[in-house]
Amino acid sequence: VVDHTAADEPATGPAGSPDGALLEQLTAVVGAGAVSAGDVTADEAHDEALTVAPVAPLAVVRPSRRDEVAAVVRLAARHRVPIVARGSGTGLSGGAVPVPGCLLVSFERMHRIVDIDVDNHVAVVEPGVTLHQLDEALAPLGLMYPVYPGEQSASIGGNVATNAGGMRAIRYGVTRNQVLGLELVLGTGEVVRTGGRFVKSSTGYDLTQLVIGSEGTLALVTEATLRLHPRPRLASTVLAPFPRLDDVTAAVPRILGSSLVPSVLEYLDAIAMGGVTAAAGLDLGIADELRAQAAAYLVVLLQADDERRLEEDTATLAALLEEIGALDVFVLPPKAADELIVARERAFFAAKAAHADDIVDVVVPRAAMARYLHEVADLASAHGALVTGCGHVGDGNVHLSVFQPDEERRKALLSAMFRAGMECGGAVSGEHGIGTEKKPYYAALEDPAKLALMRGIKDVFDPAGILGPGRIFDR
Ligand SMILES: Cc1cc2nc3c(=O)[nH]c(=O)nc-3n(C[C@H](O)[C@H](O)[C@H](O)COP(=O)(O)OP(=O)(O)OC[C@H]3O[C@@H](n4cnc5c(N)ncnc54)[C@H](O)[C@@H]3O)c2cc1C
Repeated sequence: VVDHTAADEPATGPAGSPDGALLEQLTAVVGAGAVSAGDVTADEAHDEALTVAPVAPLAVVRPSRRDEVAAVVRLAARHRVPIVARGSGTGLSGGAVPVPGCLLVSFERMHRIVDIDVDNHVAVVEPGVTLHQLDEALAPLGLMYPVYPGEQSASIGGNVATNAGGMRAIRYGVTRNQVLGLELVLGTGEVVRTGGRFVKSSTGYDLTQLVIGSEGTLALVTEATLRLHPRPRLASTVLAPFPRLDDVTAAVPRILGSSLVPSVLEYLDAIAMGGVTAAAGLDLGIADELRAQAAAYLVVLLQADDERRLEEDTATLAALLEEIGALDVFVLPPKAADELIVARERAFFAAKAAHADDIVDVVVPRAAMARYLHEVADLASAHGALVTGCGHVGDGNVHLSVFQPDEERRKALLSAMFRAGMECGGAVSGEHGIGTEKKPYYAALEDPAKLALMRGIKDVFDPAGILGPGRIFDR
């Protein structure tokens, strides 16, 4: 515990209403320009989840340092006002959407890269640092932070809170595998540091890991210590169309069981491929005849520092893909390769533009992918819906766009899809989180004993129950 002492104002202020008093006290803590009430921007009222309606908070508060965050939390606890944390608002589960009467604590002013420690391969950053910002700082040093969710404007705080994954997880793991330590403001305003610039610890409970993925319900992250990796110099991207989706899922264990270590291993079904390439205006030169036969595509990125090694790996992969039944194998020119990866990252926006009604990111054991996708196809037709998708097939994590405008029918379909995923040995979300939007499905499927344990943990971190109201589970 490093700080309990920031000076906040008494709870009773001169203003007439309790809200007025709170706003005055908040202004005293963070400064007049850093509290907005009544003039909240449209963006701050929602995140990117397709199903959320915008909600105006009581106020947006923009602290610039840890002590201000602590003081804001203490004031909120005293006034019993809920707090919703906001990074960049790119989340897909409603996690950063305000509730009426809450303080939306935005970390946009806490965007300092505190240190890049080259010898220890560590970066220490404030939570509002974006992935793009960090990548720009690391590239000249030949280093990288390997969490690449589709949206590079996402913040490190949001990534930690959702345990973000993304395409490179197949090689490097997810946020959970990269965070060495955190600085946290608990629901009491108390400040706690966990972990540090070291890679192993057998010293008590792992509070870092407990907070990662807690979606702003246990603590506010005010600093993160991150593990860095050498940045591979060379890349080769291979695209393989397959006649059946099953061929793609069957290819995954073969590739991962070979000597190859892909940095990206993604699938897109034919509809998703058509959608993302059309949205990006991207022509990969695949003949119409071949496209007509393809039910799904595999995209594999290989990276290395040695040219000969990369050539050999690419040849090995191409031979393996042909043997497995690919209709063809394309080694993409670098520009087309980069554009395809970016187009795939923007698959969400292509689905949104096509009026998808919801997006889910169920995860199953990768050997159960074929079974799960068959069950989803059956469920979609039983519920009169179109479900199409792409995803991190190497992780068993599918991103499925659900087209069924009738809300009741869609909810019934989603319940069945989540249940099927769990029956395959999987989980409701691989990386987007539960937030508010997946909460009813999760509540219906999760072991009540585990939910009770989580509620108990939350009570310890946040006794007044002010952090992340209604996210993950109801208190
Ligand atoms: C086009 C697109 C593609 C995407 N692709 C992927 C993908 O491949 N993989 C993936 O994992 N995600 C993906 N996402 C989802 C999103 O980018 C991630 O969830 C990201 O981690 C959210 O970061 P953010 O800063 O926008 O967080 P926000 O949306 O602002 O918040 C997300 C959650 O974190 C909490 N939070 C934010 N900051 C803090 C803090 N400092 N302390 C405590 N809690 C905090 C919020 O309360 C909320 O619960 C994608 C989103 C888009 C729009």
